[in-house]
Formats: sequence, C-alpha cells, structure tokens
Amino acid sequence: MIVKQISKNIYLIKFKTRNDLTSTLLRFQEHYESPKFKGKIFTLEEYKKWYIKNSPKGIKTGKFTYYKDWSGFNIPSHILQPFYRGLFNPLTEAEKSILHVFNKIRNKKFYIIGVYGDVDKSILKHEIAHGMYYSNNNYHKEVNAVLKKMDSIAVKQIIKYFKKNAGYHKDVYLDEIHAYTLTEKGLLKKRGVDVHRILNTRKELLQLFKKYSSR
Ligand SMILES: [Zn+2]
Repeated sequence: MIVKQISKNIYLIKFKTRNDLTSTLLRFQEHYESPKFKGKIFTLEEYKKWYIKNSPKGIKTGKFTYYKDWSGFNIPSHILQPFYRGLFNPLTEAEKSILHVFNKIRNKKFYIIGVYGDVDKSILKHEIAHGMYYSNNNYHKEVNAVLKKMDSIAVKQIIKYFKKNAGYHKDVYLDEIHAYTLTEKGLLKKRGVDVHRILNTRKELLQLFKKYSSR
C-alpha cells in the first residue's frame, strides 16, 4: 500500500488490489457510515452476517459480496480513535498497519481516502469531494447551500437507492448525495433516478469542486 498526502488534510492510500482495499478498510468505513454499525464496536463476523442479509447481492446470492461491491473508501480521522484505544481488538495485521501509518498525526483532524489499482478518476473525485466536505468549512457551507435547493423528487429517489444498497447511515446522506451528484450521474440513472432533475445541482457542485480543488 502506498500513502500519499494529496492536500493539506487529505491522505490517499492506494492498495494493490480491490480485495486488499475493501478487506483492510471495512471496519473503519462501516464504523463511520453503516446504517447498522455506525458508531458501534463489531467483529468482521457480525458485519458479514448482517451484510449478507441486507445488501442486494447478499440477499440474492447468500454470499458475502462486500469485497466486490465497493471500490472507494473515505474515513475521517476521528473514526480511528476507538481502534487506537483497543476497542476493536483483536485487529487484523492490515488494520494495524493503517493505525501505524497515521500514529504520529492521530490527534489531528484529517481525512483518509482509499482506492486500488489503476485508480478510476471518477472514484477518486468522489472520495476527494468527501475529503473536502469534511476538511474545508467554506466548501462544506457552499455545497450545503446548493443542496438545499435541490429537486426534492430526485433527493427522494437517491435516498431510496441508498436504503436499498445498505451502504450508508442517514447521517451521511447529505454528504453522499453531494458526492453521487458530482460523480455518479450514470449510476444514479441506472438505479432509477430522473437524472435531468439533478443537472442544475450537478453543474453548481462541479463549479464549487473546481473552485476549491484548484487551490
Ligand atoms: Zn461516497
């Protein structure tokens, strides 16, 4: 795994394979935004059981498909704290290596993005958008002002999709609506969202992203 600081408070971790990425960051990510496990302490086995019963592919196949379902990870630094404090012990070697990497700055506010292989640009952009939303107050405020005016039918359709894919806690819906509108127009269309309803919002978000990421 390669760690690179890509802006003042955002660190990019690049893994060799999708499996390395998803298996290493699962518990950090889901402690942050799982609809079931957010803020909770849990084992991988507990998570697997739940995910098979609640994710679309798990329901369909009876198998744990998480490692192939997700491809970009985003974790605010405060999420590492219970792991440093031993609450998630026993940790895997991979989880320990993440704590080791950030040990020196563990009390600072920063953001971790995880990707793999030949990084897909839109995935990277999606995760950087989360990083900026967390670490840049002005970007955060301007994005919220744009989302406030967003078409309410489209918002409902996106949330319906989030509920189905078992990936997000309601506390991160706003942040995810922001990132999906920016980078996942095609996927949203496939999942039944009237994308013409998001075009104006998307245009404004793209302008904000450009404005803040070029600094
Ligand atoms: Zn996201």
